[in-house]
Amino acid sequence: MLSADFSRLGEELLRIEKAGADWVHIDVMDGMFVPNITVGPLVVEALRPLSDIFFDVHLMIERPERYVDEFAKAGADMLTVHVEAKGNLKRTLRKIRDLGLKAGISLNPGTPVSKVSKVLDLCDAVLVMTVQPGFGGQAFREEGLPKIEWLSDYARETGHNLEICVDGGINRETGRRCAEAGATVLAAGSYLFKLEDMASEIALWKTFGER
Ligand code: ZN
Repeated sequence: MLSADFSRLGEELLRIEKAGADWVHIDVMDGMFVPNITVGPLVVEALRPLSDIFFDVHLMIERPERYVDEFAKAGADMLTVHVEAKGNLKRTLRKIRDLGLKAGISLNPGTPVSKVSKVLDLCDAVLVMTVQPGFGGQAFREEGLPKIEWLSDYARETGHNLEICVDGGINRETGRRCAEAGATVLAAGSYLFKLEDMASEIALWKTFGER
């Protein structure tokens, strides 16, 4: 949603849903964890009645445990928090799951995957950042690919039903490479929103993971 027209978010949400996306990815920024500020629980709550699509809420905020209850009440289906954010990570992930939501952990391009390995048992998803979080429209960073491969191996070896999500600089080419590395969810913004025909592109991307 970061690349959507914020003056007509409701219509943009319906456009994403109509184009065949399974999830909508909502980027929350607090001006602290990242310099930018975007939207909070009130906007999620306003969008919720418009659609049943899965709300994947990416919290780029410090001490995310402060807002878990509010985002849950607002109608988020999943909350993803950053391993680099201040706060008690394990407690936050447990709280998200206790409220009946899916829990995700995200890591920045400069953060090794070993940093999240200790909390994977508390997670339903991992979000690998392939740009520095904070702004849309950046170029894809290659260091995400070996992390996706590591996580894919981990999921296969442990039998953990873990969604491996990727966020940042995703287009047809980088999306294909991430899917081949083992990504199960592609979060795309600026590339998709520029297309006249979002639906055909999403339909194509859904074939990437077929093996
Ligand atoms: Zn995001």
